[in-house]
Amino acid sequence: MVKVAILGGGLTGVTLARLLCGRSHDVVVLEGEDRCGGLCRTRVENGFTFDTGGSHVIFSRDTEVLKFLIDLLGTNTIRRRRKTKILFRDRYVKYPFENGLYQLEREDCFRCLFEYIRSYIAAEKGELPAPKNFREWMYFTFGAGITDLYLLPYNEKIWKFPPERMSAHWVEGRIPRPPPEDIIKSAIGIETEGYTHQLFFSYPRRGGINALIEAMVAPVRDRIRCNFRVRSIERVEGGFILSDGKERIFADRCISTIPLHALISSCHNVPDRVRNACMDLKFNSLYSVLVGIEGEVPPYSWVYTHERGRGLFNRISFPSNYSPEAAPAGCSSILAEITFRCGDEIDRMSEEAIVSHVVDGLHGMGLIDDPSRIVHTSISRQEYAYVIYDLDYQKNIAIVREWCRTQGIDLVGRFSQFEYLNMDGCVRSAIDFVKGFP
Ligand SMILES: Cc1cc2nc3c(=O)[nH]c(=O)nc-3n(C[C@H](O)[C@H](O)[C@H](O)COP(=O)(O)OP(=O)(O)OC[C@H]3O[C@@H](n4cnc5c(N)ncnc54)[C@H](O)[C@@H]3O)c2cc1C
Repeated sequence: MVKVAILGGGLTGVTLARLLCGRSHDVVVLEGEDRCGGLCRTRVENGFTFDTGGSHVIFSRDTEVLKFLIDLLGTNTIRRRRKTKILFRDRYVKYPFENGLYQLEREDCFRCLFEYIRSYIAAEKGELPAPKNFREWMYFTFGAGITDLYLLPYNEKIWKFPPERMSAHWVEGRIPRPPPEDIIKSAIGIETEGYTHQLFFSYPRRGGINALIEAMVAPVRDRIRCNFRVRSIERVEGGFILSDGKERIFADRCISTIPLHALISSCHNVPDRVRNACMDLKFNSLYSVLVGIEGEVPPYSWVYTHERGRGLFNRISFPSNYSPEAAPAGCSSILAEITFRCGDEIDRMSEEAIVSHVVDGLHGMGLIDDPSRIVHTSISRQEYAYVIYDLDYQKNIAIVREWCRTQGIDLVGRFSQFEYLNMDGCVRSAIDFVKGFP
């Protein structure tokens, strides 16, 4: 018998364990896989360090959380200045796109500037109706030039869901309308920076992003149960019985950090209304493809590839530029991210076909001039990658959260709160949760 069971040993689960143990709570983390980490897992293969849940770097506006994460890594950390690009036609344009307008062809630059100003003036005069969905929000906030040339194709590529059927509530505040002076400066070539809380980021020198998990787990390792996939959650007098089908664990409290879909399908006596609302919550999945090559890669942090013709990937990153220890001496690495939805065309492709598609795409981009330089390839699949905020999201999530509340199940973490939380957001949620924990 334990006091507190934490379902899931991703970043949120292990942070909760660490913080609750720090307050002398009796805790067990039940993790379905053979090791902790979730999206923050890392594999080392042939000397290449490969973050299997896509490229992860440490940054935050939340200074307390950022300090907590950096302190955790101690000396095992490297700080980098972002050098991120968008591959626009044949040019590597500065990121964010609205800060690199001067690098576009003049006609494109003019269109972005003119349409931005047009929509800005119309919005200021109150002539633009409030956006009703994500697609309208992009046009409203950035104008038709930036939206048509970059934002819309990029968002269609990453979400695999029509932006007109997505809600805009999650971007408001997260992505503010850029000030007109910045757009004008960007168009005439005066340097500006956007998304400045990410301009500098940190990364573990050794061990990839999973080094964060390892550091978090170190003092609470004896509280972690791996290979325990929760399949049944039964509410009984005074607590919960949790089972993986082989073993039953009794706990007074149950904190879930696992995806809501896994949680709800494990619970007993779930009303249809709640089950249906949960099944209607949408998410997309991810393939990460790692390519290890002999020789160098361009000095970029990562590159966004919004154009369909470039390949299925929406982002290419260069882990060996984050840390020289991410690749063997004389080699470097490239990580491609491809999102997909369950059952779509990408999901139906074989993993070999995806790897060879990525290699061809990198060749087409000139990132690999000679395929004989490739010394390693690897692929990893994540079922839960991004929450999709469709137009029914707010209705559905309210139903599921309310039911979990009545059952006494606490929800913390990216796919448990079912919110677009980065690592800092997950750690913030865990800190705040523990502050309110009796
Ligand atoms: C492509 C990509 C890039 C990202 N880049 C960044 C970045 O650069 N910086 C940043 O701050 N954030 C980034 N993030 C976000 C970051 O990955 C997440 O915020 C964070 O890892 C979520 O942690 P979590 O513990 O809430 O969830 P998860 O990592 O999903 O962990 C959930 C855990 O529950 C386990 N589990 C599932 N079902 C069961 C079950 N039935 N029983 C037991 N265990 C179960 C899983 O195995 C997993 O270990 C990125 C995300 C993606 C998809």
